[in-house]
Amino acid sequence: MAAVKYMSLNGKVVPTEDARIHILSPAVKYGTNVFEGIRGYWNAGQKELHIFKLTEHLQRLQFSMKVMRFGDTFAVDYLRDCILELIKANELREDTYIRLFAYVDDFDGEMTAAGTVGMAIAATPKGRREKADAGVNVAVSSWQRISDNSMPPRIKCVANYNNGRLAWMQAKADGYDNVILLTQRGTVAEGPGACLYIVRDGVPITSTVASDILESITRRTVMQIFAEYANKYTVERDIGRTELYAAEEAFYCGTGHEILPIVSIDRHPLGAAKVGPLTQALWEKYQALVRGETPDHPEWRTPVYGESGS
Ligand code: PMP
Repeated sequence: MAAVKYMSLNGKVVPTEDARIHILSPAVKYGTNVFEGIRGYWNAGQKELHIFKLTEHLQRLQFSMKVMRFGDTFAVDYLRDCILELIKANELREDTYIRLFAYVDDFDGEMTAAGTVGMAIAATPKGRREKADAGVNVAVSSWQRISDNSMPPRIKCVANYNNGRLAWMQAKADGYDNVILLTQRGTVAEGPGACLYIVRDGVPITSTVASDILESITRRTVMQIFAEYANKYTVERDIGRTELYAAEEAFYCGTGHEILPIVSIDRHPLGAAKVGPLTQALWEKYQALVRGETPDHPEWRTPVYGESGS
């Protein structure tokens, strides 16, 4: 059973079961398919659904399409309109996850086919991740992160996610909740679907954007929240594996993961082995900002329904 009645396919709202592509499209045969994951937050008091950093996500989708040499891109305004139309069609008045795909859709197209470019959107209800309040126990993977010169992690190509899947499945089989991948140089990259921060001696540290990571929108938001609200300046640098064990706090950050505290790495407890104070304060501020519970940074939120709530 579909969670929602409608999806958007090539700019049209269609019944969910009609949003299909052919098995012989390059999108399926070769993973010629890029995407974005975007969150909308319901504010009950305002009767408003706020989409967080929508323009940034749509610009990154365009960048992924460019790097993959798609023959066509879609204008940001057009994509924004399609998303808003779909959410309203499904009458979503709760926390929502929007998944937006652009893909090469030629029937039996070759590996180098650049068009026809298709576009599909799903918008479904989604709350906070399981274990988010208690924090997660994670492993450092023996699988290495894909690299910028092979399959660039800087873009959100669906094929990239098999790297994270291998690592995450292995970690789950070994009894962990989640996983951290290292670069081929042996420094810390990121998780399968989120970037990573550690805190050492009160200083937030995150891997550089040349560390085979996605240029995460949340990673940048966190940097800004730390600077503006906690007077903490993030250091962007290489992180060594055993620095993970020395950290007093660590967390994943990403649209889907939000701020997800890590309480142990390779069974080494971090700090007091519970959610640390900086991570907790960050999570509270992040929540208030994404949900529009504070008037700060209105430019980060796109309201779906407008003032009337209709
Ligand atoms: N890294 C990877 C591999 C991801 O899939 C994601 C989720 N998009 C992130 C990091 C976090 O990126 P963002 O904050 O832009 O969602």
